[in-house]
Amino acid sequence: MSKGMTTLTFHGGPSDGEVLTNVPSMRVFPLVHLPTGSGFTEEADGQIGVFAKAGELPSNWFIFKTARYAKRETDSDRTGVHYDFVEEALISRCRAITLKGGWCKNEAVPGQKVCKTHARAANLELKPDT
Ligand SMILES: [Zn+2]
Repeated sequence: MSKGMTTLTFHGGPSDGEVLTNVPSMRVFPLVHLPTGSGFTEEADGQIGVFAKAGELPSNWFIFKTARYAKRETDSDRTGVHYDFVEEALISRCRAITLKGGWCKNEAVPGQKVCKTHARAANLELKPDT
């Protein structure tokens, strides 16, 4: 293991047993979200699609499922950083239409329709709900 790098191990939940190696120690946070690779898409005809085990989000995603993990207090007999599963959460996409006419790719603030950036924007144009 290189200096300044650590290993993250996840316990419980959808990513049980998953290990991420060579993570910069600077990037170790007390609470992390791990996308589960599943969620919903909005199709052009207004239909709802489903995706699962996706390596990355499809461009038309509007909800994806993530798992929250909390960092364990460091126990001296273990190497690396260990996270325990807390809960699953659904992440919604910002509904704003960007100035270029595209769909904002950011995550919406929980309980709101838009992301942090668009919450401050004037003349906001929203994508109609399906
Ligand atoms: Zn936005």
